[in-house]
Amino acid sequence: MLKIERFTCNMLQENCYVVNDESNECIIIDCGAFLEEERKDIVDYIHENKLTPKHLIATHGHIDHNFGNNIIYQEFGLRPEVHKNDKYLMEELPEQAQAITGVVIEYDMPTVGKYLDSTDKILFGNHVFTIIETPGHSRGSVFFYCKEENVAFSGDTLFRGSIGRTDFAGGSMFQIIQSLRIIGQLPDETKIYPGHGNPTTIGLELATNPYMDR
Ligand SMILES: [Zn+2]
Ligand SMILES: [Zn+2]
Repeated sequence: MLKIERFTCNMLQENCYVVNDESNECIIIDCGAFLEEERKDIVDYIHENKLTPKHLIATHGHIDHNFGNNIIYQEFGLRPEVHKNDKYLMEELPEQAQAITGVVIEYDMPTVGKYLDSTDKILFGNHVFTIIETPGHSRGSVFFYCKEENVAFSGDTLFRGSIGRTDFAGGSMFQIIQSLRIIGQLPDETKIYPGHGNPTTIGLELATNPYMDR
């Protein structure tokens, strides 16, 4: 059984998730924590629940999903893992911060610990997440998918009732539609946790999201 805790972070209302199971090992997905209290909330939650973080993973390389990488690195020694096709974004996080949010980052970002591809698996406790490549919002956007628990983290590719922008560097409307067609093959009951906004399911999106199709 997975326990999924959501922390809404930074000026773009980005969702960071801490996911643990009965072993109390956890993963941290998209740590966009920017403000001091956001950072403290996540770190305190991990400590108070006696969780052991095993991976810090990002659905893609946009700054709103990576603002807090340094605090996770400082506290737990984990470097971010992100798909190899988003290397171009991970190497310019401070520039993105300034361009997208107008913020100057005054701390060093930890370098990427591992560049992922579709053959990698994210292991923690008694669970495994696989990587579904979903380019379109960025070149290296992915879904992290746990088949056993029918759960996926969709980043900025799929939102409840909507999809991510494709007008940033490396974005492609053609690619995101192709990616969503692959995602549409997941079981209807698959619960989707997006990078912004509330959770949904594949079935609900197929029924209501104009961009989704099987
Ligand atoms: Zn994004
Ligand atoms: Zn985002």
